[in-house]
Amino acid sequence: MKDFGEPKFRATQLHRWLYSQGVADFESMSSIGAPLRQKLGASFAIRPASVVRTQREAPEEAGAEQSPTAKYLLRMPDGELVESVLIPSGERMTVCVSSQSGCPLLCEFCATGRMGFRRNLHAFEMSDQVHALQDEAASRYGSHITNIVFMGMGEPLLNLDNVLEAVATLTAKDYRFSISEKRITISTVGLVPGIERIAASGLKTKLAVSLHSADQQQREKLMPVARQYPLDQLGKAIDAYNRITGLPVTLVYMLLDGVNDSPVEARKLARYAKRFLCKINLIDYNSIVNFQFKPAYAETRNSFVRQLLDAGLHVTVRKSQGAAINAACGQLATRPDTYGSEPQ
Ligand code: SF4
Repeated sequence: MKDFGEPKFRATQLHRWLYSQGVADFESMSSIGAPLRQKLGASFAIRPASVVRTQREAPEEAGAEQSPTAKYLLRMPDGELVESVLIPSGERMTVCVSSQSGCPLLCEFCATGRMGFRRNLHAFEMSDQVHALQDEAASRYGSHITNIVFMGMGEPLLNLDNVLEAVATLTAKDYRFSISEKRITISTVGLVPGIERIAASGLKTKLAVSLHSADQQQREKLMPVARQYPLDQLGKAIDAYNRITGLPVTLVYMLLDGVNDSPVEARKLARYAKRFLCKINLIDYNSIVNFQFKPAYAETRNSFVRQLLDAGLHVTVRKSQGAAINAACGQLATRPDTYGSEPQ
């Protein structure tokens, strides 16, 4: 609008048409004068993300009490492919949004990391994932999106400007979603500058930190980025986040058989976590073909949980949804051949 010599409020009008009204052609934007609409139409095209493929869990894979999780392969305007996941759970309908195509951080257990890094997603490409899946939630589940998690492909804090802009669009008052910040979770593998920035931003979104080990050496083996942001530095950032925001963090811990599920690891985790206002979310590893890891045995997991509870910590054990369709944590990798034959 600036380039066209238009006043600032025109940009707000346009933004509203796109993201509040969901209007995808300039001609229908009636509050914008015809000459400007024509100029816009001659200079730009509106191309929302489109769903290329869908894969839904079979009802028996989802379990009796859950609706099936669905994974979506979306094409962005430039042809880039990303995955998003729709996770129904009781009254909730959560959309898991990707913030990057691929990821540069190479966590050992993660299929996205193996794809390599392709590019950061723009803010509109993140809000577009929510818009596209909102339509899916309505048509397939007769429901609407209640929660958003930035936990799909990529590390959100490596693309924080765009993530924050997408959050602003999705939470804007009177907009299509107007979702509360409290219903949005931003996840990170522990990038300290990004945590500090979120703490200072005044946002009330939730923060999830993937810890996966409270032993520095073990964590470095699992997540190379831990060398850059060691546990003590991460701990200081979490502590400051607690103090500044008054909010707890969720420490995510994926139990891997024989790697990070021993009583010694549980003790280290308890000692580390006790310093913070936090809850621990234990998740199962979702086996990925050709990766060396296996999920922990149920018995091992139970005694790990017991140790944490005995230490007075708040622990949830999350059954990972979507593992059967490679839609669970660490499994997103935009491989069209992993999708079934469900037509779009
Ligand atoms: S776990 Fe997250 S940060 Fe690590 S490689 Fe995968 S997408 Fe990237």
